[in-house]
Amino acid sequence: MIIKKIYPVGYCNGVCKALKEIEKIKKSSNKKIYLLGNLVHNEYTMQKLLKDNITIFDVFPKDYKKIIENFKDKNGIVVLSAHGHNININNLLTEKNIEYKDTTCNIVLENYDKIINILNESENNIIFFICKKNHPESSIFENIENVYCLDIDEKKYPKQLNDKQIYIFCQTTLNKKMYLEFATEIKTYYKNSKIIDSTCKYLNLREEKIYNLDDSYTKILVIGSNTSSNSKTLFELAKYYKKNIKVLFINDEKQISKDMFSNNDKIAVFSGTSTSIEEIDIIINKIKSFF
Ligand code: SF4
Repeated sequence: MIIKKIYPVGYCNGVCKALKEIEKIKKSSNKKIYLLGNLVHNEYTMQKLLKDNITIFDVFPKDYKKIIENFKDKNGIVVLSAHGHNININNLLTEKNIEYKDTTCNIVLENYDKIINILNESENNIIFFICKKNHPESSIFENIENVYCLDIDEKKYPKQLNDKQIYIFCQTTLNKKMYLEFATEIKTYYKNSKIIDSTCKYLNLREEKIYNLDDSYTKILVIGSNTSSNSKTLFELAKYYKKNIKVLFINDEKQISKDMFSNNDKIAVFSGTSTSIEEIDIIINKIKSFF
């Protein structure tokens, strides 16, 4: 049996940065840590954080405001998720004198800055932001005038903006091909619109590795959580592009059993960006222990 991790695998830079910030807080103060939103979309990692006595408010971004308004712990520190949130949340935390650490990923912030610059250039500019419904990244643009958040699954867009200059962006973790397909459909309608590739390059690399995987493999394992949209996308891509290879989505080592594998298997291991190397190794070692 051959089992090979296909790099990049494990946490992406954004998730690493967020977890390092938590470690820093733990080392430098006795403050109780509260996570607002799912810091990383992975149960294994979240369970580890819970064991460290960290409280997690795993709610939709629309409920962040209510949580902060009711927050009472004067000795607590609020950590904001890597995936982004509305700027009003920072303002509210400051207003209420609550200490906080914002771990929003730099790539998410760079896209936000680009969008705000475009909006500031002209009142005629409009942003179509293609995203997954309820994803924290789309909440960044809530209440921002001239930004339309469009659900990638619904594929609907306003059609009365012919006198405007439209710029099309997307959530960083969307699959690039799916994004470009919908963006191109919009561009066919709004000929002058501009498509900006705002997908995350680190994630694109994982997707490309799936497209380019050679056919000598007998199985593909995608390790990630059901709550991680990029893990699910990797799984869907593997099933679609690698029809001759058996593709398995694993979100817990308990799902693994001997009858799923054979000693002749050559297995390629992929993971979502919120899956730790530690979790991946536990799963690989369990498979190896069967043979
Ligand atoms: S997937 Fe990309 S954009 Fe999202 S947190 Fe990771 S590095 Fe940042």
